[in-house]
Amino acid sequence: MHGAILVLSGPSGAGKSTIINHASEKIGSYYFSISTTTRPPREGEVDGVDYYFVSHNEFEEDIKAGNFLEYATVHDNYYGTSLKPVNQALNDGKLVIFDIDVQGHRLVKAKMADLVTSAFITPPSLQELETRLYARSTDKSSVIEKRIENAKEEIKAISEFDYIIINDKIEEASARFTTIAQAARLKQSRKELSNFILTWQNPQ
Ligand code: ADP
Ligand code: 5GP
Repeated sequence: MHGAILVLSGPSGAGKSTIINHASEKIGSYYFSISTTTRPPREGEVDGVDYYFVSHNEFEEDIKAGNFLEYATVHDNYYGTSLKPVNQALNDGKLVIFDIDVQGHRLVKAKMADLVTSAFITPPSLQELETRLYARSTDKSSVIEKRIENAKEEIKAISEFDYIIINDKIEEASARFTTIAQAARLKQSRKELSNFILTWQNPQ
């Protein structure tokens, strides 16, 4: 494997998708890991583009089959990252971007620490998060309230991340994200380093 992983976490409504879209032309080619979820699709979301939308039973079958690199329950639904496409992209040397929650970040870091760079994205305040979630108007207010309660917990994990992006002005947040993505690409896995040392010590 000679690719790298960039994990993005942060409350729902923090602006993760907006930042990735805004920076997508500046960060060079990357593979965005499409998660699988039991959450129902929002209006405009497309199966296989935004998520793979599956039933509770199908998700549990995938867990049993060992198909997930990580999975977690977030806001009462399952969300998971499939192992196979991620391994394929890493083998192809790509930068793999994950939009996963703080539990998922811990699991991926535990399994693939030497490939992972991570950034926590947050709006400047809880109040701004609430304003953006209501303005996005993709979820009903009971769902939004749940996400806000969850955000108060998620923010506690902020120090576990390599970088923090305060998404106030989108241009600035996007520029910071671009720099972080470039740094993530430069991270070398331990295995690659061991090989480098061997060839360095033993020239042909
Ligand atoms: P996430 O992917 O983290 O759930 P989104 O990218 O969907 O969040 O952003 C949530 C909402 O906030 C969207 O309606 C988006 O247009 C808006 N938004 C994102 N970044 C900013 C920003 N810097 N300023 C104002 N609104 C923003
Ligand atoms: P949403 O329902 O707003 O799309 O996502 C809700 C939360 O689930 C977000 O914090 C998002 O980062 C997280 N999430 C999305 N996909 C995954 C995944 O595959 N694994 C984990 N652990 N979290 C995910």
